[in-house]
Amino acid sequence: MRAFGAVGGTPRFMVSGSGPYLTDADGREYVDLVCSWGPMILGHAHPEVTEAVRRAVDRGTSFGTPGEDEVALAEEIAGRIEPVERVRLVSSGTEATMSAIRLARGFTGRSKVIKFAGCYHGHVDALLASAGSGVATFGLPDTPGVTGATAGDTIVLPYNDLDAVREAFAAHPREIACVITEASPGNMGIVPPAEGFNQGLKDLCAADGALYVSDEVMTGFRVSKQGWYGIDGVTPDLMTFGKVMGGGFPAAAFGGRKDVMDHLAPAGPVYQAGTLSGNPVATAAGVAQLRLLAADGFAAYEKVDAASRQVRQLASEALAKEGVAHTLQTAGSMFSVFFGDFGERGVRNYEDAKRQESFRFTAFFHAMLAEGVYLPPSGFESWFVSAAHDERAVERIAEALPVAARAAAEAVAA
Ligand SMILES: *Cc1c(COP(=O)(O)O)cnc(C)c1O
Repeated sequence: MRAFGAVGGTPRFMVSGSGPYLTDADGREYVDLVCSWGPMILGHAHPEVTEAVRRAVDRGTSFGTPGEDEVALAEEIAGRIEPVERVRLVSSGTEATMSAIRLARGFTGRSKVIKFAGCYHGHVDALLASAGSGVATFGLPDTPGVTGATAGDTIVLPYNDLDAVREAFAAHPREIACVITEASPGNMGIVPPAEGFNQGLKDLCAADGALYVSDEVMTGFRVSKQGWYGIDGVTPDLMTFGKVMGGGFPAAAFGGRKDVMDHLAPAGPVYQAGTLSGNPVATAAGVAQLRLLAADGFAAYEKVDAASRQVRQLASEALAKEGVAHTLQTAGSMFSVFFGDFGERGVRNYEDAKRQESFRFTAFFHAMLAEGVYLPPSGFESWFVSAAHDERAVERIAEALPVAARAAAEAVAA
């Protein structure tokens, strides 16, 4: 994505960031609507996060032992999110989902995993399968280097289709270790779960003895203080976190039911470890960011939500004014624009998302970039704002949007 593979052109090399702005190697400033793909919810180089990092670096950067901030970060997570009775820190979202799946398999003694087309869970081999159409299609690897055997235990189903999940459980009774899903998908553009979908997943898992794994790497601590769990209240067996919780450093986590987590080494037999897990610098950044987010009754989320509302409204207005067919979909403060006509139903799954008019997004993206706004360089990604997106930043976006909307209107399919 960052290579501009989807939109073409020369990727920007950023050299510094401050609040809602990024500056590239040529000295051009952009309003940032990527926020490092989510983590920078307080904006770039927040002085208090930076200070916590500086202090941590001065004390030493890695000990390979338990540490105080590791515990503090675990407490920040478990203190917010009730289903997290135990939590294990890792260094990336990929590690979190990989470990959660290993644990689910180790706990249940089963092999198969259900995932949904269009959901991204990091570059875990077994999850790099999205397969084509059809119910209960066994995963075909998406990339060279992943063997058929590795992807073969992955069942890929269309998102928002509970009947497909029901059929998969019926076809493979007591063989499915877990269902893993993005709590609210943001990696095919924003495609929120339909009413009752997550609860349905949870119920189907419970009925079969499989685990319901909610991937909140993107939504966690972003769409609310409790992530998507704070919005739909469905209790997962395991959850994964990353992005915001690391404060811009490599820190991620998985956690959940005590009886399941107690199967992890050293308490239990399922192996998991990491040289830099719970790293003192990363955890200091994460603790600082999560505590700042909690300050003044979690006031930062009101700022994030307000900025998101403003940008969404401005984008819709600008596109409507130019007569550009689009649907803007929202999940908390995360949102994205799909170009094209999707009717009342909107974009409900990956098949829908793939019908978007990408040529319009490309024109829109480059016009915004030229006007000094850095959007995610793909129509299959969420837009992110931060608590630092103030009036001036929003004003700059407002000025860029009409130009970009016109570019989208005039774009022609290649
Ligand atoms: C970003 C992301 C991941 C992977 O996290 P990395 O830190 O990039 O490995 C996993 N799941 C979801 C939902 C994500 O958005």
